[in-house]
Amino acid sequence: MSTEVDVAIVGGGPSGAAAAHFLASRGHSVLVCEKKTFPREKTCGDGLTPRAVKVLAEMGLQDELETWEHVRGLRVHAAGKVLELPFPQLPAWSDYGLVKPRKDLDKLVLERAETAGAKVLQGTEVKQAIFDRGVVTGFIAQRDGQKETVSAKWVLSAEGAATKFTRQLGRDRALDYPMGLAIRQYFKSPMQHSGWFEAYLDVRSGPEALPGYGWVFPVGDGTVNAGVGVLSTFGGWRDVNLNRLQESFIRGLPAEWEVSHQTVCSKPRGGRLFMGGSVWPPHGPGFLLVGDAAGMINPCNGEGIAYGYETGRIAARHVDEALRNGSSPALPGYTEELKETYGPYYRLGRRFVKRIGNPVFMEKLVSLGMSSKSIMSFALTLLGNLEDSKSNNLQQRGFRFLKLLAEVKP
Ligand SMILES: Cc1cc2nc3c(=O)[nH]c(=O)nc-3n(C[C@H](O)[C@H](O)[C@H](O)COP(=O)(O)OP(=O)(O)OC[C@H]3O[C@@H](n4cnc5c(N)ncnc54)[C@H](O)[C@@H]3O)c2cc1C
Repeated sequence: MSTEVDVAIVGGGPSGAAAAHFLASRGHSVLVCEKKTFPREKTCGDGLTPRAVKVLAEMGLQDELETWEHVRGLRVHAAGKVLELPFPQLPAWSDYGLVKPRKDLDKLVLERAETAGAKVLQGTEVKQAIFDRGVVTGFIAQRDGQKETVSAKWVLSAEGAATKFTRQLGRDRALDYPMGLAIRQYFKSPMQHSGWFEAYLDVRSGPEALPGYGWVFPVGDGTVNAGVGVLSTFGGWRDVNLNRLQESFIRGLPAEWEVSHQTVCSKPRGGRLFMGGSVWPPHGPGFLLVGDAAGMINPCNGEGIAYGYETGRIAARHVDEALRNGSSPALPGYTEELKETYGPYYRLGRRFVKRIGNPVFMEKLVSLGMSSKSIMSFALTLLGNLEDSKSNNLQQRGFRFLKLLAEVKP
């Protein structure tokens, strides 16, 4: 079978579904090929920060969001203390976050794209990019053992950390950029409505403090999502055994969570987190990369869903302009906009995670932070990338100053 569309998208996760939604809403013919059949299990902490809430609302899901599990901020546990840090009150962002299992979230958002007019083929794996004189003009996919040839004016890779298709486009992750490894499980727990993203900063491999954190997020359906993530910025990270790290994190959690072998309801599942804009440039002849395929996870907190939605939305705008006005087969404007939007913050983030790769520095930083609620509130705004150009309070001025500082060569 063969199909011809304006835009063909590889993957129906957050970035692919958002790109499809915003393109179809502008009247373009869009095809999403997704290898799995939704609802499907997806390894994730299921945490949605105010950045993700914003784009979900823009995609018309505001009423739906009201029914999901709400959290008012971060409750941090470290150095023998607990600090409750509500999300900042800012005009640009909601002052709450949400928890929604990806199994349900991704299905809902992909359905929004379909409602907007995108065609979605599930159970359809994209195998091979098609090039015409160096320009990507489509791909070959496989569905029920049959080949599907898709021709498109633009191809978007939203394949996440799978990398197979993106590498065919000549793009790969820069190995000197930070990468995360994380693992999670669901447990039945009486704390299913705790009202906070819980973060445990004391993650250790033997005596050494690791750059990372453990989390427990309340799902609200009788379960919690508990897991742990670490960064590739310390020496022994290749030897880290995620399953063992998870076991020791779960064992160390306070009794009130009631997370144990008795209450576990899923196997531990882990994955890689491509961070800081590590697949660059995210455009080329006939194609754009969005979300994890472009390595767009925030290196400071491991959040990737919002960046998938945002880069999907930005890509949609550039492709829309190209389709309406006619332009060269490459869209450097997309890369420029990502550079402008995320560049200074991600540079700051990369510097930050490099420093916390030193266990001594990491411990000192945590102990200093936990001694002051205002420092940690600032850290929440900073690590969550909750900048607001309309606000000029002390935190926001500090945020802008640090971003400027990150531009100064070391
Ligand atoms: C353990 C863990 C916990 C995390 N916790 C959080 C969290 O709490 N909050 C947060 O914001 N982020 C979290 N992240 C990061 C987040 O999961 C990702 O950043 C996010 O899923 C990126 O969305 P995406 O659409 O770019 O990629 P994905 O969500 O990976 O979607 C890619 C889609 O493409 C499909 N696909 C792949 N290859 C093909 C192909 N060849 N053909 C067709 N389809 C294909 C896949 O089936 C998949 O559905 C976590 C990650 C991990 C590993």
